Amino acid sequence: TKVLLTGGSGFIAAHILEQLLAKGHSVVTTVRSEDKASKIREAYPAQSGSGELVVAIVPDIAQPDAFDEVVKTPGLEVVLHTASPFHFKFKDPQKELIDPALIGTTSILKAIARDAPSVRRVVVTSSFAAIVDEASIADPNTTFSEKSWNPVTMNDIHKNPATAYRASKTLAEKAAWEFVKDPANNAKFDLVTVNPPMVFGPVVHYLSNLASINTSNERIVDAVQGRWEKEIPSTGAALIWVDVRDVAAAHVKAGVELGDEVSGKRLFVVSSWFSNSEVAGVIRKNFPEYADKLPETAKGGEFPPEGEVFRWDNEETSKVLGIDWIPLEKSIVDTVKSIKKVEGQ
Ligand code: NDP
Repeated sequence: TKVLLTGGSGFIAAHILEQLLAKGHSVVTTVRSEDKASKIREAYPAQSGSGELVVAIVPDIAQPDAFDEVVKTPGLEVVLHTASPFHFKFKDPQKELIDPALIGTTSILKAIARDAPSVRRVVVTSSFAAIVDEASIADPNTTFSEKSWNPVTMNDIHKNPATAYRASKTLAEKAAWEFVKDPANNAKFDLVTVNPPMVFGPVVHYLSNLASINTSNERIVDAVQGRWEKEIPSTGAALIWVDVRDVAAAHVKAGVELGDEVSGKRLFVVSSWFSNSEVAGVIRKNFPEYADKLPETAKGGEFPPEGEVFRWDNEETSKVLGIDWIPLEKSIVDTVKSIKKVEGQ
């Protein structure tokens, strides 16, 4: 199958790329710069049994015509759109977050509908951010599932960085569903979204140093570098997580392996609950060399008390994907091993 994968330089996309090539699929992936393109070409030299790889440059996904050329690649059957900003280092949420997320999504869908008639399925990487309702995070009577929608709107983007990020994912995903629903857009493809919560797991994309680690693995770098030595920080609102290899597998299954059974679905890919205190415990147990960075005396980051946290249900997703979710200990151990590799570069 010939697949277009946007944002190939990213943490999750690198695993999708790896899995697609290993299964013999042809991939065209987009990155922002020639520098990033050459790193990916070096990492995946052509070899027998592996699919063909082409790296294309799309400098700015916030431009309405960003994907006009690359979607014209002959024979594309599937598009996996992962590129979207995930960081909290922005000054202007509209320009740096909402525009690339929202215009990036609508522009690629428009370009496919207009110029890529062979595309049969588009998978958009959305997020638990588009499912969760901030007001109900501590409410044990709320169950988040594939059916839940974050009620956040454009009016909320200046509240705080986390809300702005959640808005970017919610508005982008909504726009995607609205696009395929409106007959005027003439979409000949169907849509699937993958909605992961916090994603942990080994880094396989190029990293020049650990300071440039992807956002969801930052806490693990913090832990091994001693920033949890005195106190383990609060886990935050997410509280549920999934391994990057399972997120990638969900994209591959949804995009190229499964048929009508996933068509039009939101895939809520979740392994389990987690807390920072549990993450610290896993590192302490498996890597005695970090004992001084994570002393037993470091407290904090515990799971909220019973009755003060939402519930979640992803039975429908687990059933349709049939993934045996990687457990927390394995995920954190493999993440730390990959961090050590970058440290040793
Ligand atoms: P990364 O930051 O590693 O990847 C983000 C990708 O998007 C990179 O390829 C990045 O390019 C690209 N990108 C970001 N902003 C722009 C922009 N303005 N123009 C062009 N490209 C851009 O994060 P992840 O791999 O974690 O995220 C991938 C997707 O998964 C995103 O859609 C994110 O919202 C979603 N997600 C991630 C979760 C997580 O916990 N990791 C949880 C839920 C959803 P570059 O390398 O050049 O910066």
